[in-house]
Parts: sequence; structure tokens; C-alpha cells
Amino acid sequence: MKKFLLRCINCGREYAPDEVEYTCPVCGDRMGTLEVIYDLELLKGAVKREDFHPFSLRGIWQFEPLLPVSEGGWRPPLLVGNTPLYDSARLAKRYGLNKVYVKDDGRNPTASFKDRASAIAVVKAMEKGYGTIFCASTGNAASSLAGLSAASGLNCYIFVPASAPEAKLTQLQVYGANVVPIDGSYDQAFDISMIIGFEENWYCRNSAINPYLLEGKKTGALELAVQLGWELPDFLFVSVGDGTVLSSFYKGFMDLKGIGLIDKIPTIVGVQAEGADAIIRAYEKGKPFEPDDIQASSVADSISVGKPRDFLKACTYTEKNNGLFVRVSDEEILDSIIELARETGVFAEPAGATAFAGFKNLYHKGFFSQSTSVAIIITGNGLKDLKTPLKVLEPLKKIPAEPDKVREAIKRGC
Ligand SMILES: *Cc1c(COP(=O)(O)O)cnc(C)c1O
Ligand SMILES: [Zn+2]
Repeated sequence: MKKFLLRCINCGREYAPDEVEYTCPVCGDRMGTLEVIYDLELLKGAVKREDFHPFSLRGIWQFEPLLPVSEGGWRPPLLVGNTPLYDSARLAKRYGLNKVYVKDDGRNPTASFKDRASAIAVVKAMEKGYGTIFCASTGNAASSLAGLSAASGLNCYIFVPASAPEAKLTQLQVYGANVVPIDGSYDQAFDISMIIGFEENWYCRNSAINPYLLEGKKTGALELAVQLGWELPDFLFVSVGDGTVLSSFYKGFMDLKGIGLIDKIPTIVGVQAEGADAIIRAYEKGKPFEPDDIQASSVADSISVGKPRDFLKACTYTEKNNGLFVRVSDEEILDSIIELARETGVFAEPAGATAFAGFKNLYHKGFFSQSTSVAIIITGNGLKDLKTPLKVLEPLKKIPAEPDKVREAIKRGC
């Protein structure tokens, strides 16, 4: 096992990996999230740019030297990562920028970015000898863990709000997960999962509780750097719920910088829905960062989080790296789903399109110039939620099965 230690983001206490399973015992679950710290000096000599490829048949496991898993150990037989990065000439032209890159993480095996974290979670569960794993989720961590567990032969329990989009709930049942649909919010499902999961001694794949998830998500940043030939964009946009994905991009770039593979971290912009802006509220109040929980409401179900679990890392990393936050309205999110699909062919679920909405929001505020390059991370596939885009689309009208009627309808523009 390569050397790493766990460090509390709040108090800085350090632990050996076999000393604590989840969070800092002194600071507790909410404040005491742990960072995985590697011996960067050791890695500096051992890891080179040429070791990594824009496309690898191993997916995220090509980054094994930078991940907290045993070298050459068991891996789940599903290809995670390797998602396409598009250089969108049409968006660059439309917005007058140098480059607009779109990374489509909806192309993961269960169709969201969460597969990067679930892949690590099932490996850790196996390494530690657990037979059952659980999580609470707005929907994607759930379907992702269900899929990765199925591939791994692990038993899983999934606590979700019963209001999660149908496609995500169906994924769970199809993958054979034990589904616990809670008549309440994600935040309630999370708190209940923590009680039951620990009573049962199942392995916990909950955001910010399990320190290794973020390391899996970090592969999004590593992959982006490799796919761009190590030339990172000026700005990077990512949507924010619990704050783990955002933190993982910082962590990925900080690790790469720490071992000398990049020298500059892009300006990362965390995008939240107006009705679910708990991390931005905490950030705006300044240090020492404290949670400012709310009752969340947004069309973007995956980021409809009122009690964000990784808020402290998200705020700490953003401050340390001079990052930005922006809020977008549900209307901006809905428009962004349609525009992104029509300009790039990438159909994003609402939380995925939220990153694009954040980009457009800053564009309209005059943030960019002709020489600016940006990357937009699309975290989930549009087929996950077919109801939400219908809010802004014209309902289809049936046409009688007669050529004349069809001709007329086409003339009218259907
Ligand atoms: C989970 C999720 C996010 C946000 O990730 P957090 O780590 O909760 O901030 C964004 N988009 C999609 C599609 C997600 O499933
Ligand atoms: Zn602590």
C-alpha cells in the first residue's frame, strides 16, 4: 500500500488510514471531513506526464499512483472515466471566446460523474472486507453505487428521497439494490442512513463522511489535464450540491501542482441553484466557515441540497485558490439544458446543465475576453430526468396518419 495519511480539514490533526474509518473523531461528522494527503516529494520522482493517456482502457485506474488504493489490487469490472472532452467550436464562436471545452461525464457507466467516487468506494469496501455498502443520495450517487455494487457482487442499501426522478429510481431497482425510498428530503435521507448504516456496520459511501470518494472524483481533474495536453483553461465550471465534486477538482489540480505536473490551477467556478445555495451562503459569511443550512428547492434535483456535507472543504479550497461562486435561477438552468443540447449535442440533466448556466451568467457579466478558454463539466446525462426539460418545450401534437395532414403540419412547422 502506498503511503498516505488522513488530515482533518478543520483542526489539521493527522491520522494513519487504519486509525480512523471516516471523519475526525475530535471535530465530528460535519466539520471533521478528512483529506487524503500523499507524500508528494516521493511521487514527484515517480510520476511523469507521459505515464497518462487521453484515453486509457483502464479508465480512472490509469491514475492509480495518485489514488488511495493498493497497487494492482482488485478493480470493479466496469469502465469508469475516460469521458469525452469536446472542443466546441460552435460555442466558442457564439460567445466570442478562444476555446469552450465541454466534458461529458454523463458518459460514465451509470450516466453520471458519481461513478468516479463509487468505483473507489467499492474498492475500499472490498479491501476492508465489507460485504454490504450503503449511501444516501439525491439519486445519482445511488444509481451509481447500485451499478458498481452489481458489477462487484456487493450488497447495497440505498436511501433516497422518494421524489427522485423516475429514471434514477428505476436504475436502482434494475441493478438489484435494496432501495429505501424516504418520504422526505435528501438531507433527511442522509441523517437516517447514518443511523441505520452504522447500526448495521455496513460500509458508508456518504459524501464528506467517506474520505476516499473525493479522491475518485479527483480523476475528473486529472483526466481533463491529460486530455488538454496539460494546457489548462482559464476558467472551469462545475455545479455544486454537497460540494464534493467542486472540492475534488481543486484537490486533483493541487495534487498535480504538488508533484510538478502543472504549474497553474484554473479559476474554478462553483455554480449553485438560487434555491439551493447553502455553500455560497456559508462562503459569503467568511471565515471561520460555518454551515448555513436551508430548505433547498431547485429543478436541479442532484444539487438540491440544503445541508451540504462537504461545505468546509469546498469553502476552504475555494478561498485558498481564489475561486469563484455564482448562483443561477431555475429558469437559467432550464434554458441551458436546451441550448447546450442544440449547440453541442450533449444532453445534460438539470444539475449538469447548471455548470453551463454558470458560464453564461458570468459571460453576461463581462468576465471573459477573446483570449479566454473555459471548460464546462457536464456531470449527468439528460436521460436521467425527462420531465424537467418539458417545462420549457412545446407539447407535441399528434397528426392523423394521412399524407395531406402531415404535409400541412410540416408547413405549419409541426
Ligand atoms: C452529485 C451531483 C452534483 C454535485 O456534486 P456534489 O459533490 O454534491 O457537490 C452535480 N451534478 C450531478 C449530476 C450530480 O449527480
Ligand atoms: Zn478535526
